[in-house]
Amino acid sequence: MKRASVIELPANDAIPASLIANLLDMLEQPILISNRSGRILQANVRGKQRLESHGFSFESNLNLFSDLLHISPKVIGDRIESGELRIDAKFEYCDGAALARIQWLPEADWLVVRIEDVGKNAIQEQPPAMQHTVQALLQEREITYRNLLAAYLRLQEVNRQKTVFLASAAHELKTPLAVIKGYYDLLLSGSLGKLTDKQRDILQESKESCERLVRLVSMFLNYSALESGKLILHLRENDLRDCLSELATRWREAFVRKQVRLETLLNGDIPIFKFDYQKVQQTVANLLDNSLKHTPAGGQVTFRAELHFWERRSAEEIQTHDRRRERKPQPNCIKISVSDSGPGIASEHHQEIFEDFVRVDRTSSGMGLGLAIAKRLVQAHHGKIWVDSELQRGSIFTFLLPIDNK
Ligand code: ADP
Repeated sequence: MKRASVIELPANDAIPASLIANLLDMLEQPILISNRSGRILQANVRGKQRLESHGFSFESNLNLFSDLLHISPKVIGDRIESGELRIDAKFEYCDGAALARIQWLPEADWLVVRIEDVGKNAIQEQPPAMQHTVQALLQEREITYRNLLAAYLRLQEVNRQKTVFLASAAHELKTPLAVIKGYYDLLLSGSLGKLTDKQRDILQESKESCERLVRLVSMFLNYSALESGKLILHLRENDLRDCLSELATRWREAFVRKQVRLETLLNGDIPIFKFDYQKVQQTVANLLDNSLKHTPAGGQVTFRAELHFWERRSAEEIQTHDRRRERKPQPNCIKISVSDSGPGIASEHHQEIFEDFVRVDRTSSGMGLGLAIAKRLVQAHHGKIWVDSELQRGSIFTFLLPIDNK
């Protein structure tokens, strides 16, 4: 029998996040990590399978406490505040009962939930020798699990420090870049003297490079703000058509300059609903930026928004599935898409391009953050984002924004 080994971490070595995730996946027990309000941050393979067996998916925005364990997050919060580091909660589901062992990690303010089935195989009902072996195995597993978590936390901290450092460097670049851009505008306006055509072209090109740098810096600052937990949505009743057409107008000149046709199709039925005006603009701007960057001159980009019915599968919806099929579904979200006639993206990259710092096309400028930021902003609105694309056939980036956001 293989013994669980203790993981020794050299003090300064950063362990790749993917390795930690793989190690967590090796554990046989379902493990789910959430924040205090019950939002799931991480789950190993068994954890995800467990969610699916209860009719949820890891990607859905379920609340671990209220939806799965049937406990109010407030009760959990109160018990932690009263000094409890571990909470055991039994919960029932249609095929039986299970025990959720909840452990609070004060450093990160996370809750680690391990799920154990309670039933006829429970340890207490087994013979003493078997009980002993099972106990030993459980202890080994506990040690491995603690070491993995310690490694994971350390990795998170190193990552946080790196982000803080880069953010302060990016912040320092903001002012000089604004000054440089101001001088380009002044020179190009002709108020400091008449320019020859050659000088004007050179200045215009330098100004565009400067603007690209400003976009990169602000992209990074947005990312670091999201990373440090500063994503606060300002949900207000807004007109999405205004929000999107204002953005399209802002981008029109850049498309004309590159000779890419931009078509904007905003459906007239879009209702007023609650969303964060600026963050939706930021999301779409990242998609338009990519489409412009990757579409050659003479190409076409189409930007659409329309009402849509999104079939979200929660436990309750699965039960009412048959009944619902009989009715015509009412639109419950807005579908926003940006399609382009660019080079397309091979299917093996469709998931990873939404991760931080992932770039497939290394010939274009960028830090691999545009889509990662877009994904975070869409998910904060309880929506989802994906890409449909094939090489040589262009790309369609689509996201859904629920219109019933509370
Ligand atoms: P970046 O800011 O570096 O462009 P993104 O996160 O926006 O980063 O995009 C990640 C990667 O996805 C890019 O490096 C590129 O390879 C690919 N990509 C994104 N949008 C498109 C598109 N419209 N067409 C082709 N490839 C794209």
